[in-house]
Amino acid sequence: ELYNKVLELKGNIRVFCRCRPLNSEEVAAGASMAIDFESAREGELTVFSNGIPRRTFKFDSVFSPQANQADVFEDTAAFATSVLDGYNVCIFAYGQTGTGKTFTMEGTKEARGVNYRTLEELFHIIKEREKLFRYEVSVSVLEVYNEQIRDLLVSSSQPTATSKRLEIRQAVEGQHCVQGLVEARVNNVHEAWDVLQTGSTARTVGSTNANDHSSRSHCLHCVMVKGENLLNNECTRSRLWLVDLAGSERVAKTEVQGERLKETQSINRSLAALGDVIFSLANKSAHTPFRNSKLTHLLQDSLGGDSKTLMFVQISPNESDLSETLCSLNFASRVR
Ligand code: ADP
Ligand code: MG
Repeated sequence: ELYNKVLELKGNIRVFCRCRPLNSEEVAAGASMAIDFESAREGELTVFSNGIPRRTFKFDSVFSPQANQADVFEDTAAFATSVLDGYNVCIFAYGQTGTGKTFTMEGTKEARGVNYRTLEELFHIIKEREKLFRYEVSVSVLEVYNEQIRDLLVSSSQPTATSKRLEIRQAVEGQHCVQGLVEARVNNVHEAWDVLQTGSTARTVGSTNANDHSSRSHCLHCVMVKGENLLNNECTRSRLWLVDLAGSERVAKTEVQGERLKETQSINRSLAALGDVIFSLANKSAHTPFRNSKLTHLLQDSLGGDSKTLMFVQISPNESDLSETLCSLNFASRVR
């Protein structure tokens, strides 16, 4: 309750910053930390270079390398309640490749991430409310790569070339939808997780380097919720998008050609479009440029209005990643 009040007061866009720990190779190489987390509790972090504090950034929450998955979820859980209350929610992970986007969202079996924990929370609340509400939950898994949408729940057994091109349509009720997208009904967190895993596996099929591919495409999990209030038969429909974005690192145009250049350009274009849309919403601009990329077009109904948005900005603590870190922090400050 309190959390939602805070959201209303501060607008519907929140930005959390999470920093991964130095990994063993970095430690072995004597890497130095470029970020200070002394004021993390106040939502602040300070960027250092050559031992001198350069800039302080403020976010809704800051998670230092010591923060674990449960700590992160503590500040995220309220979004699950919002979805069941009928709000659309988008949760993104933004940042350079290797900073923990997938770790935060998908997590691992031992250290479950936001996706699993949010689904678990959804079904937990559904159970709590079962005397008052009836809910139906379904999930879809999509990928956006080179400005093309791929349904990961159908294409698993087919090579990419034969899987059909998906287009965004505006349905009669004005809602945007992807025509023909598979929506799998799920009754509990295990079923939901199985479907999401099927999607993740499909994502890597047909790519020569799975890690490379996943860092250059956007992976979207969509959870659709239909709710019925059993007292007055009022119905709600809402969506939760869980988005693991393509890596935001800048690639010098001189270094890439052909397919790789096209890939780089579509990533830059879609991340810039996302930034523009969120910035425009945060500033209550008259026109929001949703149509500039497939990603923002797809998420159009779940961004703005009374929708709630959470962006995780993932960063590296390593001083040698500082220029990318500053780019990410600047991007995030702009949308906040
Ligand atoms: P990205 O998806 O942004 O490319 P990953 O999620 O794959 O990055 O993370 C890169 C590596 O760092 C992985 O091995 C991951 O397990 C590890 N890692 C990232 N964030 C954390 C964290 N907060 N704590 C522990 N390990 C992490
Ligand atoms: Mg990843």
